[in-house]
Amino acid sequence: MYRTKTCGELRIADVGTQVTLAGWVQRVRRMGGMTFVDLRDRYGITQLVFESTNAELCERANHLGREFCIQATGNVSERESKNDKLPTGDIEIIVSALNVLSESVTPPFTIEDNTDGGDDLRMKYRYLDLRRPSVRSNLELRHKMTILIRNFLDSKNFIEVETPILIGSTPEGARDFVVPSRMNPGQFYARPQSPQTLKQLLMVSGFDRYFQIAMCFRDEDLRADRQPEFTQIDCEMSFVEQDDVIDLFEDMARHLFKEIRNVELPAKLQQMTWANAMRLYGSDKPDLRFGMTFVELMDVMKKGKFSVFDDAAYIGGICVPGCAEYTRKQLDQLTEFVKRPQVGAKGLVYVKYNNDGTIKSSVDKFYTPEDLLELKQQMGANDGDLVLILSGDNANKTRTQLCSLRLEMGERLGLRDKNRFECLWIVDFPLFEWSDEEQRLMATHHPFTMPNPDDIPLLESHPEQVRAKAYDFVCNGIEVGGGSLRIHDGQLQEKMFGILGFTPERAMAQFGFLINAFKYGAPPHAGLAFGLDRFVSIMAGLDSIRDCIAFPKNNSGRDVMLDAPSEIDQSQLDELFLQVDKSRIQAEK
Ligand code: ASP
Repeated sequence: MYRTKTCGELRIADVGTQVTLAGWVQRVRRMGGMTFVDLRDRYGITQLVFESTNAELCERANHLGREFCIQATGNVSERESKNDKLPTGDIEIIVSALNVLSESVTPPFTIEDNTDGGDDLRMKYRYLDLRRPSVRSNLELRHKMTILIRNFLDSKNFIEVETPILIGSTPEGARDFVVPSRMNPGQFYARPQSPQTLKQLLMVSGFDRYFQIAMCFRDEDLRADRQPEFTQIDCEMSFVEQDDVIDLFEDMARHLFKEIRNVELPAKLQQMTWANAMRLYGSDKPDLRFGMTFVELMDVMKKGKFSVFDDAAYIGGICVPGCAEYTRKQLDQLTEFVKRPQVGAKGLVYVKYNNDGTIKSSVDKFYTPEDLLELKQQMGANDGDLVLILSGDNANKTRTQLCSLRLEMGERLGLRDKNRFECLWIVDFPLFEWSDEEQRLMATHHPFTMPNPDDIPLLESHPEQVRAKAYDFVCNGIEVGGGSLRIHDGQLQEKMFGILGFTPERAMAQFGFLINAFKYGAPPHAGLAFGLDRFVSIMAGLDSIRDCIAFPKNNSGRDVMLDAPSEIDQSQLDELFLQVDKSRIQAEK
């Protein structure tokens, strides 16, 4: 037997028993002729003691290096100086036999929660990084969540079905990853951006409640909460209305928060329309952990006195409680913040309502004290508050900028507490959004989303006014999940493709299978998907989803450990009838 106990389980009650442990050497210390070794495995750390009376054994212990994989047998003994930071801190093992199972070269960084390894190094040696307890515990949490989710959905009659990952294109608004087919030269599979159309087909097949913990692939620019491949808890149901889906998955979220964090979500989560979310928070994923909601100031500030405001299509402000004492330097920092390219505002107007009743603002020379008192009332500001105002010629862009400023202020004031969870649903999204890049309407969610029946008459005349039967689950300013009622009528689906700019031929070529399937008694259906990585990282309080993925990619989409992607052999290319345009690659570098 390699081991009789783990490194995390021995307690004072085990004193006097003989045990064998196996694990990795965290640390070797020599003290007063004795040698102490901290032995680590997945379950914890246990102290091994090599006594000076056994000189030969002690000498061997002195030659153990960090991360050697060893096996040790000995007696559990009560420790003289206990370590209350370790669950095993009351005991130690007086070792009688030591077996080195595998030596280790010196690891490139220390395998401890506060490691000295930078990101790149840790990613290159991810298998060592995963030995660190904090990283490991994220994966343990992820495991626990998937088990809870599977059991919850199973109890609600959902059936788990795997769908292929070599398919045709499934538009979810990103580029596809494609895979060349050797057997069908010149043709390509696409990796699913999500199992969207396949789960809809399963509804046509009569499966009525489906789920899958599914890998999804999207070739888009990466950020902290994005990876080229990520995992969804993907679900679909037949014979349901929007509220049926919302209620069921709200229950699932409630169950997860209770089991994982012992947090009770409210009995009914708030549902906020997209229009209100944009108006009050400038975002379709508002962070409700703090207030500072937007106040529109078009009437109050447009007085023919300050041309920047007079010409603006939108003027909005937030009231930051208790910050009238902000110094010149702090205000300059905020101005710099809003002018950063990521935020994109032209400037920032501030008004300080001081505790002594005086007012100081960056627009003193344009507005009278009375004007600023009117503003104070409109903002609901008190003495001691700081009002911050942005304006611009595009209302939604300016709102987005004000949203960044609001989040920044929330951050500065410590209001974005990772141990508080404010969840809500955003509903009534617009069905389409305009893409500047593509110069056309795009589906806000995806092309299979049902328009709000009340708005169907507007589909052709005013598509931008049509609301979708779509909903997002948002927690702490992060979109954790989203879904919609689906179109289950082939003709309406064809019409949607038309509005999205597909010719009938192209729509048929790409989605004929779905339009055809809808001819065979398609049930009304709806669904949603949660981003598992995001959900886990919120529960674990992580800054990046990478920290809860075993082998993540870096910001350039590279796996630095596997050194992927990489070039492939000419013979492989030949087999696939592919040629790489090296001169173009060189030119674009
Ligand atoms: N397939 C959608 C997505 O990946 C989710 C859904 O509508 O069910 O966002």
